[in-house]
Amino acid sequence: MLIRRATLLDGTAADIRVGARIEEVAGQLWAAPGERVLDAAGGTVLPGLHDHHVHVRAAASALDSLSVGPPAVRTKDQLAQALARAAPGPDGWVRAVGYHDSVAGELDRGDLDALRPDVAVRVQHRSGALWILNSAALRRVGMAEHADGRLRASDRGWSDRLQRRDTDLAGLSASLTALGVTGVTDATPDLDAEGMVALLVAHRRGEFRPRLGFLAPGKKILHDDDLDLDSLTEWIGLAHSDERPVAVHCVTAAQLVVTIAALRAAGGHPRDRIEHAAVADDDSLAELADLGVTVVTQPNFVAERGDQYLVDVPAADHGQLWRVASLLRANVRVALSTDMPFGRGDPWAAMRAAVYRTTPSGAVLGADECVSARTALTMFLGHPGEPARARAVEAGQPGDLCVLNVPPATALAELDAGMVLATVIGGEVVYPAT
Ligand SMILES: [Zn+2]
Repeated sequence: MLIRRATLLDGTAADIRVGARIEEVAGQLWAAPGERVLDAAGGTVLPGLHDHHVHVRAAASALDSLSVGPPAVRTKDQLAQALARAAPGPDGWVRAVGYHDSVAGELDRGDLDALRPDVAVRVQHRSGALWILNSAALRRVGMAEHADGRLRASDRGWSDRLQRRDTDLAGLSASLTALGVTGVTDATPDLDAEGMVALLVAHRRGEFRPRLGFLAPGKKILHDDDLDLDSLTEWIGLAHSDERPVAVHCVTAAQLVVTIAALRAAGGHPRDRIEHAAVADDDSLAELADLGVTVVTQPNFVAERGDQYLVDVPAADHGQLWRVASLLRANVRVALSTDMPFGRGDPWAAMRAAVYRTTPSGAVLGADECVSARTALTMFLGHPGEPARARAVEAGQPGDLCVLNVPPATALAELDAGMVLATVIGGEVVYPAT
């Protein structure tokens, strides 16, 4: 197909011929007989956005799950109402997601039995690491005797029994392509080969259009109560001896310190990643730069949960949360992502969060960490395997493009999903679906 009258991000006017790859980018190109032509009318054409850390299956199931955390649900009464009204799915489950302890404390099976005893209820904590099941749900997964119904997602003994294969991948695909997203990296740590194959089959069949990458099996989640430098070092060394990079999930200061030490001891791989780096002190910046590791972070949590951080995190540590600009100044490789469905899966909202760092109540969290709109946008344009290396609209690149209905200056001023006019994957228009 031919995209006419495009404006590239640097302001260059161009026509673009695109198939499986970008074939030609030139001042003026003429349509071949029968070739599809899309008139960008001066709008910006970008490489398709890539969300570098998402959970595809969980995001698809969140589409038909009940949200039981802020901002939708903030109090125990609201939680009671939401659960009482929830209609179970065809398989008999009530699935609730996004729970946070600020709503009604540390829930257990007894609390859930009091709120909704008649059907199987499972509540996922918004961290994604914890589930709470009521008694009916525990019976269904063969754990009727479980003490409190609080189950860690990392415990494969039961989590396989909660896996869904019936999620709405087509619905998720449609919402992603409407945002200009042409690729995602799935960061689910316990995704097995079967789960990966199922997603790839859905992609091949056209049910899930964005290109798919996977961090598993090189992804590791750490827990503060059992941080072990030696075993982490050994795990990293084994992956590297197999030519595999690692992606280590670091949400606390302690996790980042141990991971840096382990990477030092084991030696780095050029494609190693640290996921989140939600808390990073000043000393860690130079270390991360020196290791050459890529930080894949989510400042969208400032926009989504910032008011909670202002309450929960000591003021002296606010500057260490979800850093971006200071990482870049220290020459750390950085890319953005949304962590959908634990974060809102809108990269444009994440870019605005990186630029403004405004919490829901309007406070600014970490003003020193604000980046320019161009930087924020570019951090969603990275290569799947090298998130901090931006792609460009040039011949030879994959035929994945995001066409906006406004010129670059307006696009950068607004950073809004409503600007997406069309999304192209492999030379095919996948949004709008006409
Ligand atoms: Zn994640």
